[in-house]
Order: sequence, then structure tokens, then C-alpha cells
Amino acid sequence: MCYAIPGKVVKLEGFAATIEYFDETKKAHTGLASVAVGDYVYAQGGFVIQTVPEDEAMEIMAEWRRLFFRLRDTDRKLAAAPRTLYERANAVRQKKLGNSCCVHGILEFSSHCAANCLYCGLRRDNAAVSRYRMTEGEILDAAEYAVKELGFKALVLQSGEDPWYDEAKLARIVSGILKRCPVLLIVSIGARPLSTYAALYKAGARGVLMRFETSDPALYGRMKPGSSLEARLELIRGVRELGYMVITGFLAGLPGGSNRGTFRNIRLTAELGAEMFSFGPFIPHPQTPLAAEKLPPLGSMLDTIARTRLMNPEANILVTTALETLDKENGAREGLMAGANSLMINVTPVKYRRQYEIYPGRAGVEDDVPSRIQAVVKLLNSLGRAPTDIGL
Ligand code: SAM
Ligand code: SF4
Repeated sequence: MCYAIPGKVVKLEGFAATIEYFDETKKAHTGLASVAVGDYVYAQGGFVIQTVPEDEAMEIMAEWRRLFFRLRDTDRKLAAAPRTLYERANAVRQKKLGNSCCVHGILEFSSHCAANCLYCGLRRDNAAVSRYRMTEGEILDAAEYAVKELGFKALVLQSGEDPWYDEAKLARIVSGILKRCPVLLIVSIGARPLSTYAALYKAGARGVLMRFETSDPALYGRMKPGSSLEARLELIRGVRELGYMVITGFLAGLPGGSNRGTFRNIRLTAELGAEMFSFGPFIPHPQTPLAAEKLPPLGSMLDTIARTRLMNPEANILVTTALETLDKENGAREGLMAGANSLMINVTPVKYRRQYEIYPGRAGVEDDVPSRIQAVVKLLNSLGRAPTDIGL
């Protein structure tokens, strides 16, 4: 679930809260905030992150009530009478999940990486990329700005595999952000010992974004030298057992992949219990060993989104920045109309954003965040979706 509309707690059973929204109820875990029956709360990704004073909640809900139902009508109209694969997938999304669309922020705090993935511009052996590390203070300030000024309720903290941020530093960053502002923190920091993820959970992180990249063990071994699919899957399963909400998925169109492989990738994402599916097209980077490989066409990515939706009617499916990069004009719209229901907005300070060059020409790299939010809200409104992670 992913409502940033305040809801009312109507039942508590241990850590499980039942929260009432306008005409439906959802469940969320209360471990991050102390709540009582009758409280108004914000919940994100299945976690209550904050209580809201009743008068404030009433005011926000009054505004939402007007908007939400108008948007829902638009969404229903656009999803009616499905014929094509994409329309059928969109209709399933509409029927199962309604019109709410998660909009998370992503803060890329370091472009240093000790790993050497063949597909990635941040790989260790790429000496041509300029690298940065945000200081702890910069990270805290950027996160606070995203939450307090821009209204994000969920933030991904992402980096290369950078041991400079050791466990103690990462834990300080997580708890430091939460001391300043309530937010669902999702870490995306790659291979680390499970004990580090346990320490970050203790510090208050509640989500992990970690793709398994490919379900083919041999391809995985070639693409990520020195590591194994088995270890990656064990880590993803391990963090889930720690209580994290897991966002996972794959890199579509990797050289050596196949249609059957895509089907297996979708199935594995579901088997891992992904709260959100994250898969994007592989975009070749000129300073990597895969520089000469082909870009997958937008149509194949939309097919994958639609098939994922039909196979997993209730999944949250992300429109990735890489998909938007394939078609900067229409990629996000088409992804949302082919069955996706989530987006991320880059909140990394612009001076660093350009250096986080996983692949060239990333969508949104030059945009200032408020204009990007405006553009996303406009897009979502035109499709009848309610942007439920960012303020109205
Ligand atoms: N280092 C962490 C990890 O690998 O899990 C997190 C950051 S990494 C940059 C995030 C994701 O970027 C990876 O999971 C991978 O799927 C994606 N990525 C890397 N290179 C890419 C490329 N050339 N095209 C599209 N996506 C890419
Ligand atoms: Fe490093 Fe992640 Fe890029 Fe691999 S995908 S090189 S781990 S940043």
C-alpha cells in the first residue's frame, strides 16, 4: 500500500494497524511510530511513518476527497473497454489497485563503486567517470529538503558499492534523517553483509531496493564478475526476513537474455515477495565492455510491463528512469498506460546528479526537482492517477 493521504486507525492487533481511507481499509505495520486507535496517520510501503493531528488530517482529506474521486473517474474512463495487451494490463491495474500512484524520491549519495558490473558506467574500472561522495551533512540536508519542502514520504538512498560509507556511517545517516523528519527510508546500496542490513533496520530503514538483475545464474556470473546469483538471492531473501519491504527486479535486454528469460525474471521477482517490481531496460554505456550492445526498443519494455501486470495483478510496478530515458517525451505515460503504477523522482542535488552516470543521457538529470514534480503531477492528473507520495 502506498497512500500519503492520511488515514484513520480503526483497529490495532499487535503491530498491525487497520487504517481507513475514504471508502476502503488497508493494513500497515506500526513499528516506526507509536499509534492508538482513532489516530490519523500517514502510511507508506506498508509502514505507518507518522501520526498527523486530527485538524490537519481533516483539512488534507477534504482537499483529497474532492480531487481523488474526480481523478478516479478519469482513470476508470481511460481503462474502460480494453482490447490491446497494454489496455488489458491497464484495466487490471485499475480494477485491482485503483488510481493511486506511488511517487518516491531517490537520492544518489555516492558514485564510487567497488564492483565491476559489465553493464554499468559506475563500474570500478571506468576511470573516465568523475566520482563524488556526499557528506553526511549534505545527505541529511538533501533528505530533509525532499521530505519537508517537497513533500516526499518515501525516499530511496542509493549508491554504488562504496565501503567508504561503513555500517556505522550508514546507520548514522539513516537515524539522522529520521531524527529530522518522518519518512520511509529505502536503502539501495548493493552487496553488504546481512548484519549491516540488520543494523540499518535497527536505525530505522524499512525498505531495500536491490535487483537480482537476471535469473540466469551463468549470465549473472558473466555480468557481475566475482559474485553469484545465489548469494544475491540469499541476501534479498535475508533482508525480507529481517522485516524489510523489498523492491526488486531485473535489467531487461541484457545481452545473452531471451524471452523465456524475461518470463523467468518476472516470476522470480514475484517469488521473492517484491512489494514493488523494478525492472528497466539495459542502456549501453560507452565506457563499459558492453558499449557496442543494442538498446532494447520501448515496445519490448512496455510488453514486459504489461505481461508483468497480467501475471501479477496486485503488484506495484515502477516506471524506471531508464524506461523514461528510452523515450523522454512519452516513456512514463506509456509505461503507466501499460500497467505500471509507480514512479521515482530524482532528488539528488543537480551538481552531483550528472556524475551518477550509470548510463548516458538519463532522463531528468537536468531538471530542477520542483519543476519535475510539477511535470509528474500534471502527467498523473491527465491520466486520472493520484500522486500519493508527494504533497498536493
Ligand atoms: N550499486 C547498487 C546495486 O547495484 O544494487 C545500487 C545502485 S545500481 C546503479 C542500481 C541499478 O542500476 C542496478 O540494479 C542496475 O540494474 C541498474 N543499472 C546499472 N547499469 C545500467 C545500465 N547500463 N542500464 C540500465 N540500468 C542499469
Ligand atoms: Fe556498482 Fe551497482 Fe553499478 Fe554494479 S550496478 S557497478 S554494483 S553501481
